[in-house]
Amino acid sequence: MSWSDEEAALRGAVCQVARMAYDKGLITNVDGNFSVRLGDRGILITPAGAPKAFLSPEQIAHIDLNGNVVSGDTRPSTEVTMHVTAYRERPDMRAICHAHPKHAVAFTLAGLSLDLCVIPEVVVTLGTIPTAPYGTPGTQELPDSLRETIRCSDVVLLERHGALTLGTSLIDAFRKLEVIEHTATILYYARTLGGVKELSPEQVQKLLDTRARLGVKTQNTLCSKCGADVDGGPYDCKP
Ligand SMILES: [Zn+2]
Repeated sequence: MSWSDEEAALRGAVCQVARMAYDKGLITNVDGNFSVRLGDRGILITPAGAPKAFLSPEQIAHIDLNGNVVSGDTRPSTEVTMHVTAYRERPDMRAICHAHPKHAVAFTLAGLSLDLCVIPEVVVTLGTIPTAPYGTPGTQELPDSLRETIRCSDVVLLERHGALTLGTSLIDAFRKLEVIEHTATILYYARTLGGVKELSPEQVQKLLDTRARLGVKTQNTLCSKCGADVDGGPYDCKP
């Protein structure tokens, strides 16, 4: 193999993130898929049907923005169209993680939303967590189901399925994936202890001020239901 230093590093990083997702229980065995842009030379993505804990750099598939294999004979993830759709909708994003985090998926099965302002740090660093309507995995329904939401948010829950997160790097996308499952776990415990109380609009506005002061740029669907004033801020959805 004659990879550039950049390609070799990114192939290794995809393997590492997939392993981390498995180690943290965000996927089982062959679940999930992970990808990163290779500059303007396409996308590196995990292969179809391979155990994510034991990937090696040569197993990573190299595809173009249409999902076609560019080099090598590795078959890309069966959810490749979901990644390609997300990259097309979000040219500002460089990496994608897709996993099946337990608590987050359980919330979608129960019909409960995580699109809430409840944990201050999450409001500041991420925003809220919207859910896209159900789409059959492995079909065009799935990318179609998330297209609108991913335009407006770096993170999205897929009903009855999992989570998709976009980042400026693989580590950034993985961080958002961890925040989703951590939030879902906390809310699960809070519900068992008596319920979840949302932050007030005033409290949310102060957090948005902090967010602006820190220069946090995550695209998110925050936060019309909280009543906070976000017009003209960095939170507006792109057209
Ligand atoms: Zn999946």
